[in-house]
Amino acid sequence: MKYGLIVVGGGAAGLMAGVVAARRGARVLILERGPRLGRKILVTGNGRCNLTNALADGVEHYRGGEPRFCYGALRRFTVADTLAFFDELGLPCVDGGRGHFFPRSDSAADVADTLDLAYRETGGEVATNARVIELIPGPPWIVKGAGGRSWAADSVILATGGSSAPRTGSDGGGFALAEGHRITPIAPAIVPLVLEGNFTHFLQGVRLQAGLRVPERGIEVGPAELMFAHYGVSGPLALQLSVEIGLDLERDYLRLELDLLPDIPHDEVSSVIRSRAEAHPKRELGNLLLGVLPRKVLPAVLRQGRGDPGRLCGEMTGEVRERLVGLLKSHPVVCTGTRGWDEAAATLGGVDTGEVEPRTLESRIHPGLYFAGEILDVCGECGGFNLQWAWSSGYVAGASASGE
Ligand SMILES: Cc1cc2nc3c(=O)[nH]c(=O)nc-3n(C[C@H](O)[C@H](O)[C@H](O)COP(=O)(O)OP(=O)(O)OC[C@H]3O[C@@H](n4cnc5c(N)ncnc54)[C@H](O)[C@@H]3O)c2cc1C
Repeated sequence: MKYGLIVVGGGAAGLMAGVVAARRGARVLILERGPRLGRKILVTGNGRCNLTNALADGVEHYRGGEPRFCYGALRRFTVADTLAFFDELGLPCVDGGRGHFFPRSDSAADVADTLDLAYRETGGEVATNARVIELIPGPPWIVKGAGGRSWAADSVILATGGSSAPRTGSDGGGFALAEGHRITPIAPAIVPLVLEGNFTHFLQGVRLQAGLRVPERGIEVGPAELMFAHYGVSGPLALQLSVEIGLDLERDYLRLELDLLPDIPHDEVSSVIRSRAEAHPKRELGNLLLGVLPRKVLPAVLRQGRGDPGRLCGEMTGEVRERLVGLLKSHPVVCTGTRGWDEAAATLGGVDTGEVEPRTLESRIHPGLYFAGEILDVCGECGGFNLQWAWSSGYVAGASASGE
């Protein structure tokens, strides 16, 4: 039996493509290697699913070999279209703060189930526990599954995801299915960073607003929340930086500078320290910034600079003060890598977008083959951008592959 369209991978992008194509009358089959559709959606946004972001129409929030590649798809299916689409399916979304949109029910499972229902209600067919192992270019395309099964279709969409969070089914195996296409180097993204030394060990569990810089690359992120862990740093600031430096970290260590007082300009920090020390000369130095920084931070910073947190503020010399300013505003740390694919929420790199038509997401190598989602060399920032890319690219691939 021949299908109009086979979608390989029933994640966010594959489900969107399936709904769009089935609504246009195509006979569609989604092949999903796992036991259910939308497994990765279930773990998004800590189970709440940050399904888009008010800024997600802007190409500047996405990384990849060709920064403007995603422009066409993002324009064709916008943030407003995403919100209207889910609303029409019966899943209203609300701004959970700073333009991060979540389903009103705060349930990622509701997003996966709503898409699954919409797809099946439109007549879409599904085979779960169906791992695709080979594509034979058509027409008709022959899609071979593990266990000797095979299917035929006029066109195929590859939506197998990247390599992040392999427990959800996307273990990078999909890249092999894109045979004939160049795969750009890949690296984990939106992932905690591993730092050298025991500075972060002292600060385990501490959260604060901070900034991070990579002087040799001219990169600066934040201010945003940073969380310290025994291995290094996590939280939105670290996750955002991983999008910028993930590929570099595959090759080498990177020197970073941590700004622990991002809301106080560099040249004002010295006078803040001096006036606090003058106001409280009998306090220990380790307590100088109590109320400004979390309690554990200043003693750890002082120890790093071989300062004594037990000395009195009134005894602080100008030299110690200036060293302290440097350690608070440009604290040097060495990043040795990331926590890897298991803890990553996204993939840097993927199918080379130079070999894909941006307007239709059709392969320039094999006509009739389309791509959608994380398998492509497009990686969004942290905060709803990657799902917006899954929705936009899924929409365009689904519409194009069903004859638009
Ligand atoms: C913990 C976590 C939290 C996240 N939170 C957010 C968030 O809040 N907001 C946001 O925007 N993004 C978030 N993301 C990122 C977002 O989930 C992904 O960008 C998005 O799901 C990618 O969609 P996709 O359809 O391209 O890939 P996937 O969702 O990975 O789907 C690919 C599917 O293909 C299947 N598959 C793979 N190979 C085969 C094969 N050979 N045969 C058949 N099927 C196959 C897989 O089983 C999988 O179901 C998060 C990611 C993680 C891991």
